[in-house]
Amino acid sequence: MNKPIPKLTDADLARFWGKVDKSGDCWLWTMNTFKSGYGSFGIRDYSYRAHRISYTIANGDPGELNVNHTCDNPRCVNPLHLWLGTQREGMDDKVAKDRQTKGEANVHVLTERQVKRFLYQINPMLHSVGNMVLMKGPSELSNIVNHGGISEENVTRD
Ligand SMILES: [Zn+2]
Repeated sequence: MNKPIPKLTDADLARFWGKVDKSGDCWLWTMNTFKSGYGSFGIRDYSYRAHRISYTIANGDPGELNVNHTCDNPRCVNPLHLWLGTQREGMDDKVAKDRQTKGEANVHVLTERQVKRFLYQINPMLHSVGNMVLMKGPSELSNIVNHGGISEENVTRD
């Protein structure tokens, strides 16, 4: 259960962004973090995960869905590095990334058009980002993971 994120006042927003270092590609939370590594932002006596606050500012409250990172950097609050998924999809993403690190190559490269269409479906803000999307099989949308930090030349052209 995620506590609903309250409406943020201008003062909350100023306080939030004042704790973020935007000098790099990842926008890093500079204040307290939870044990999990996620940034912690207090609003009226409750601590929320900072990346979920950032997602909410950009897109609205994610509710019961997980906000996942394309960059695997729990302190990052750059909305372009955040994607919405179920807990299951977050786990699949981790498994796929681990597999990739171990060098198993049972993934297909998607065409650029497929990548953009998929990113647009999860979040219209993401569709212009040149993130690479990997999937196990062409019809298994639920197995799609998107993976940041890979340059656009790795995406084949239609
Ligand atoms: Zn990031």
